[in-house]
Amino acid sequence: MKRIAIIAAVCALLCSCAAPRRTAGSAAAPLIGISAAGEGVSRVAQNYIDAVAAAGGVPVIIPIMTDSLAIAAILEKVDGVLMIGGEDIDPHYYGEAALPEMGSINARRDTFDLALARMAVRARKPLMGICRGIQAINVAFGGSLWQDIPSQQPLSQIRHKVADGESPFHDITVASGSVLARLVGSGRMRANSYHHQAVKKVAPGFVVTATAPDGVVEAFERFSGGDRILAVQFHPEKMFEAGDASFLPVFEWLIQESRK
Ligand code: MN
Repeated sequence: MKRIAIIAAVCALLCSCAAPRRTAGSAAAPLIGISAAGEGVSRVAQNYIDAVAAAGGVPVIIPIMTDSLAIAAILEKVDGVLMIGGEDIDPHYYGEAALPEMGSINARRDTFDLALARMAVRARKPLMGICRGIQAINVAFGGSLWQDIPSQQPLSQIRHKVADGESPFHDITVASGSVLARLVGSGRMRANSYHHQAVKKVAPGFVVTATAPDGVVEAFERFSGGDRILAVQFHPEKMFEAGDASFLPVFEWLIQESRK
């Protein structure tokens, strides 16, 4: 009996040593925590998962949680964080009353996303946002949103919410000198568009790095004080799903930063 137990213990030790290990700062694929969406369920659309994997990361879903201790525990395990699209953020969080044109909100997800953004940055993790992600990051750090672009900017000649948002739809201008420009080049690019809200007051320390022709913020970043935050309003994961890898380098940025 005793001998069997010893053999089993030695076996377990050998097996665990032989298994590949991921250590912080190693060249192994980093773990990328993706914030979940949903009501009564925590889910992540497959295209976000596929884009993170294609860029060299190992995607893991961070379920919707409002317990900050649980969020902190997950942040100790992941190397980087991606925050994804979804509902409108309750304007209460940036000091406004809801307009009639505002869409649906998800109170639990608001609590989760705002805490996750702040805690990821405090934990010195690289943070990437897409769509609601850029909006949640902006609100988390003191910015505000256009609640509804069509009604609040009636002179805009650009529709920002079209079809399923897969195909590039409007131009964006990427500012030279930005990290985004280093990744995808500066100047005019085509981007898809699937949003009716957008960044209004830009949170302190963030630099707008891409705009649509009507001035709507399409990307921003913050690298002051050791922060590593890069976010876009459009949907690079949908473009990647449709076979357009123009913005895959943004995912690759997250993976590269997550190795550090
Ligand atoms: Mn747009």
